[in-house]
Amino acid sequence: MAAADLVARLRSGGPHLSVGILTADLMTLGSELSLLEDAGIGIVHTDVMDGVFCPMLTVGAPFLGAQRTTMLKDAHLMVMAPEDKVEAFVAAGADIIAFHPEGTRHPHRALQVLRKAVNANDPERGIIRGISINPGTPVEAITPLLDEVEFVQILAVNPGWGGQAFIASTETRLAHARELIAASGREILLGVDGGVTRANIARIAGLGVDLIVTGSAIFDGKAAAGNAAFMLSAVRAAPGRA
Ligand code: ZN
Repeated sequence: MAAADLVARLRSGGPHLSVGILTADLMTLGSELSLLEDAGIGIVHTDVMDGVFCPMLTVGAPFLGAQRTTMLKDAHLMVMAPEDKVEAFVAAGADIIAFHPEGTRHPHRALQVLRKAVNANDPERGIIRGISINPGTPVEAITPLLDEVEFVQILAVNPGWGGQAFIASTETRLAHARELIAASGREILLGVDGGVTRANIARIAGLGVDLIVTGSAIFDGKAAAGNAAFMLSAVRAAPGRA
């Protein structure tokens, strides 16, 4: 099921924030989701780590399914063999699914599987198929997959280790990815994930991306609503905003 309308929606008015929910207070997941909705956040991001692809072990598809929200559900799969796992995330209500081609010999196959998937929230909505690449992966790795994706996500930190800063070369990697996407002639979203803080959000919002993932900058144990408002105002002030 094509996600052209959803892609068009996210291509305009951006960059959009996708908020990492694992940094929230998970004992009060419902109220944390409501807090994001009330703040005007449109996308909730779940970092799925299998302890094999990267050192940390987090949550799986049931956690995504447990999220009662009107926000789009963005599943970032840092797992081995994603081609065997994407359908569970479709069933759990993912609207956006990005996996790592580094985790499989068959990234194109995983994307083909997702092309036939039907959005569990709304069959008309479609599912955005994404690939996400680590800082050590050449950007050109996305090229053979561009005919089957709606979303490319560049990681600005190495996944699974905490407390990392935004890697400076991410800026040139985003520019390179944007060129490859333009050359493909397809409508493909560009996103960045990792190391986004109150201090660098304004700069990152000016890099020509459609989606920006942020987590701990919002759920820092203090004023999450105020943090969300701050981050939203920063992206809304971004130069070149459509
Ligand atoms: Zn992520």
